[in-house]
Amino acid sequence: MSFSSLRSVRSILSYQKYLRYFQQQQSCLVTVTDEYRAVSKSRSSLKGVELLRNPALNKGMAFTLEERQHMGIHGLLPPAVLSQDVQALRVMINFRRLNDDLDRYSELMNLSDRNEKLFYRVIADNIEEIIPIVYTPTVGLACQKYGLVFKRPRGLFITIHDKGHIYDILCNWTEQQVKAIVVTDGERILGLGDLGAFGMGIPVGKLQLYTAIAGIPPQHCLPIMLDVGTNNQEISSNPLYIGIRQKRVTGKEYDEFIDEFMEAVVQRFGWDCLIQFEDFASHNAYRLLERYQKQYCTFNDDIQGTAAVVLAGLFGALRITNTKLVDNKYLFVGAGQAACGIADLLAHAMMREGATQEEAASRIWMYDVHGLIVEGRPQGDLEGPKSAYMKKGKPVKDLSAVVDYVKPSVLIGASGAGRLFHEAVLKTMGQINERPVIFALSNPTSRAECTAEEAYRETEGRCIFASGSPFKPVVYKDKTFYPGQGNNAYIFPAVSLATIACAARHVEEDMFLIAAQQLGLLVSQADLDAGRVYPPVTAIHEVTVKIAAHLAEHLYETKKAWNYPEPNDKEEFIRMQLYDTSYEYFGPKTWKWPEQHSSARNVPSIDEDVCLES
Ligand code: NAD
Repeated sequence: MSFSSLRSVRSILSYQKYLRYFQQQQSCLVTVTDEYRAVSKSRSSLKGVELLRNPALNKGMAFTLEERQHMGIHGLLPPAVLSQDVQALRVMINFRRLNDDLDRYSELMNLSDRNEKLFYRVIADNIEEIIPIVYTPTVGLACQKYGLVFKRPRGLFITIHDKGHIYDILCNWTEQQVKAIVVTDGERILGLGDLGAFGMGIPVGKLQLYTAIAGIPPQHCLPIMLDVGTNNQEISSNPLYIGIRQKRVTGKEYDEFIDEFMEAVVQRFGWDCLIQFEDFASHNAYRLLERYQKQYCTFNDDIQGTAAVVLAGLFGALRITNTKLVDNKYLFVGAGQAACGIADLLAHAMMREGATQEEAASRIWMYDVHGLIVEGRPQGDLEGPKSAYMKKGKPVKDLSAVVDYVKPSVLIGASGAGRLFHEAVLKTMGQINERPVIFALSNPTSRAECTAEEAYRETEGRCIFASGSPFKPVVYKDKTFYPGQGNNAYIFPAVSLATIACAARHVEEDMFLIAAQQLGLLVSQADLDAGRVYPPVTAIHEVTVKIAAHLAEHLYETKKAWNYPEPNDKEEFIRMQLYDTSYEYFGPKTWKWPEQHSSARNVPSIDEDVCLES
């Protein structure tokens, strides 16, 4: 019995739940497949220590006495039987005793290697505390130190030297039902730049959020590192480096490699396998998105996910300022993939509100490392997606002078460059606006354009602030402000959940707009009053299910869902497919018979003559 067959038992089980749901809803007759019977029968053959070593099935000390005896693990565990509640408590006590976030990250990764259900249960119960560890900001630190924290491979490493054999490598992955891949080439990890194969921490972390937030079963998720080398000498000369030590391959060879990867995924896992691109450098990210968007089931989180979460934050902020999108003037600091993705979706949303394309573009200004993006500026290129927002104007370089010149009502930092919103910039924003909107999105925290505290202080508590990495509440003049976190985790798990559940063929732009609108609407008045433009992170799972249900509605309405028959209640349909963190039962499957048939007591006494006659 292979590990993969065991995993497929679980997916078949959830498939069964799904079929039962349709039986109830559509009164259709469904029979259990022979494949399911075969796998189900042999499930019990994974016994003994192998069961304890399998993180997907291991329950640790939660195995009951009956299960321990039945599965051949009796005596391999201490005699006490603990509930999952107690196990979760023990994990959190140990977790909180650690002084260092990197140690906390390692502790959690070790747990996921031992007991997957407990790992996800602990995240679900402590989401606000743990998301910053498995995701930004700590995951950034973990990537930088990946050589140290690396204990056991998760996901697939495919190098440029494997060109021509990518399909073979995908076949080495034992899970049969991969439905979502997060892939990176490690060239732009968060705001930290080229980390090469150390960037694998990002796809791993993102997919953990797929399960923890969106309930997408872990066996459907596959993290992949496409290792084409690294131009970061410091990393590649580190003796603990885990990738290939050479300069990045670029150009035709790179493109052929990525093309082969996309084709191999479809060949191995089917056309509806979702591929999320993550932390590719701008010069590739946009190009690859355009190239594959209409051919594959794919999206780029740094461009589209970021755009949606920021747009949702703007919807929230505009509920406070009581203005429409088109009434505002936006200045982006940083004109890379995050900024251009946000600007594109923002323009799209303004057009949906009735603005023309020219009007929408005229509201958006951009500023990059070479200064304001204006025609004929003396320094810096004007190519690529940012060119759509180029203006006729003065080529100003100093940021506070730019703010004074453009007079934006909304300032959005996505530069990855650290403290660019210094005192003068923030003060100017406060002088020209009653309620300035200031989003400092760069990650990790050390790269944020300003802290929450600086933003509230320099604008005398009037700004509406959100950031990419979390900031603690700020007390300013006796009032407590709760900074919003424009965390992509509000969007990409929901988009992926709906796409997978409905077997959508493509992830279209409208899905991000709908996700943003829904997220904006899910912010309560109480949250807005406290300065929050996003729902609290503690509500992220429920928010995700609600957004995914709306997206499913949209996919069926527009005939883009391929999972038939169409469910009546989309939210229930989504909920039916969610991963369950409660443990499976491993004891013998028994059932009762009527008393007269269940023992030898009712058999007539043996009479040799009667036996011979019959
Ligand atoms: P990118 O490399 O594509 O773009 C960076 C841009 O910033 C470029 O236009 C560059 O010219 C500009 N820049 C760099 N240094 C600058 C400086 N000193 N002054 C002005 N401009 C400068 O990167 P990206 O993918 O767009 O990501 C940028 C940042 O946004 C990263 O820190 C990333 O973590 C963050 N981000 C946040 C979220 C979120 O909060 N939800 C999502 C995605 C990305």
